[in-house]
Amino acid sequence: MFNFARTLGKKNSSDHWQQDNFKPSARHLDFGPFMEMSSELMLVIDRKNTLIHANTALLHKLEMSGDELATRQFIDLFHEDDRANIRQTIQNLVPTAGTMESPCVTFQSRINAPEGRTYWINWKAFGHDQNTYCIGQDVTEHYALHAELERNRNQLKQAESIGRLGRWKWQVGEDTINWSEELYRIWDVNPDHFTPNFANMYEMLDEDDQDRMDQTLQRAVINKNNFDVDFCLRMPHGEERYIRCEGRCALDEEGHVTSLYGIMQDMTEWMAYERELKSAKEAAERAYAAKTQFLANMSHELRTPLNAIIGFSEMIQSQMFGPLGSEKYVDYAGDIRQSGAHLLDLISDILDMSKIEAGKYDLDLEEVQIVDVVETAIKMVTTRARETGIMITLKESFSPATIMVADRRACLQILLNILSNAVKFSNKGGKIELVCQSGKDKISIRIRDYGIGIPANKLATITNPFEQVSPHYTREHEGSGLGLAITKELVEMHGGTMKIESQIGVGTTVTINMPVLARPKDTMDLLFKE
Ligand code: ADP
Repeated sequence: MFNFARTLGKKNSSDHWQQDNFKPSARHLDFGPFMEMSSELMLVIDRKNTLIHANTALLHKLEMSGDELATRQFIDLFHEDDRANIRQTIQNLVPTAGTMESPCVTFQSRINAPEGRTYWINWKAFGHDQNTYCIGQDVTEHYALHAELERNRNQLKQAESIGRLGRWKWQVGEDTINWSEELYRIWDVNPDHFTPNFANMYEMLDEDDQDRMDQTLQRAVINKNNFDVDFCLRMPHGEERYIRCEGRCALDEEGHVTSLYGIMQDMTEWMAYERELKSAKEAAERAYAAKTQFLANMSHELRTPLNAIIGFSEMIQSQMFGPLGSEKYVDYAGDIRQSGAHLLDLISDILDMSKIEAGKYDLDLEEVQIVDVVETAIKMVTTRARETGIMITLKESFSPATIMVADRRACLQILLNILSNAVKFSNKGGKIELVCQSGKDKISIRIRDYGIGIPANKLATITNPFEQVSPHYTREHEGSGLGLAITKELVEMHGGTMKIESQIGVGTTVTINMPVLARPKDTMDLLFKE
């Protein structure tokens, strides 16, 4: 065990020490207890670097007993990498001429604790008489915080570089503005030659931008508000950079603006990207409008000859002007009529969709006896349903008094589309049920089938144009994939909604809710604003 009482007794014998560091009245005091109470780490070595004393704080830090420490070499207490430096420092503690004391030196080193732990210590060493006195302060935590701060600084720097944005701060009234490194890169100026101040910055801005910047900053100082301003940097080689500057005000305790601070971001690439996107969007819109126009024209052009084909094949099939030579011709005429009718359906769908997309589908509103429309629609699909043994039942119907203000043709088309899908996707011998209900302001029609159903993952998109469940090559059912898209649009044009519920193998229910008084979309907006 080290005996500090004995060693201290020896130290106190130095006159020099007593004069410089102690009041005369304290001359004979034993300072050992101070060493033990201190949270600083203290140790004493002799000229041969033999440990002669260590205080309790150091023993705690090293997690050693005094006996254990007595078996160690002084230099072994330190981290391997720091030992050479420590030896050198201690050796250099040569007493000043005419005294027994060396100047005090400071150094930093790590000490080794068990399990590979190390502590960073700030040491002060002082040579006196035959000994060297060292006092150390643990700065490990400070070091860790410093390292963390450094890491954060680096990350911030990288984030600024990735985002092409830099920070600035202007102390109101001062000439220079404080810039982060990235701002020098954004402005493409050398930090050694460029002082960020308004005069230098404005040299690279157009007059308009200078004025706007001035006004924005002045207003911010007066109104104490957050602000943003965009400007264009004119670079020396004619290049332009678009900068977005956003800022905040820092206030003192009395609420006066003391500084403005914020970011500047290089938006050049983003602006170019936005321009490209805008022109691509415009090109796409032009192409889309041209396609819609083309489809509208083509559908019209195709309809006229198709009507002739259907009409004349019907006449031939019915042998209106005398018998055909062979029965086969009658069948063929029937096939021509059927194919023509199918083509006409497709073309009508395309024409309707084009009109809707071009915003040219005008509702022809009139008073409609809705029960009549429902019955007509059922009649029109009944023949086809009967062919596959499907029963259509009107479980609950409207009263003849239920009158809607709607587009009759559109209502019929809505019902026909839903009903013909129900027939098309029902199994042989299946059933379809309709429930029609009317309230004060709205009517509701629910059409339920027990057919193949729609997969859950398709339900959200099935009303998009050309959307179908099965890919073309496996499809058993004919269709353009436009029916539900048109139906939904027509319902919504009346101010109504369409909901589809379905389960594979169980069936599909389509529910239409429509206002009794059609409210086309634009007037609906007005209604909701009120
Ligand atoms: P299509 O002319 O192809 O029938 P629709 O827009 O009317 O076009 O329907 C789109 C797709 O939705 C259909 O191809 C079908 O896969 C599915 N579908 C629509 N109604 C039903 C239904 N009642 N039962 C099962 N599937 C349906």
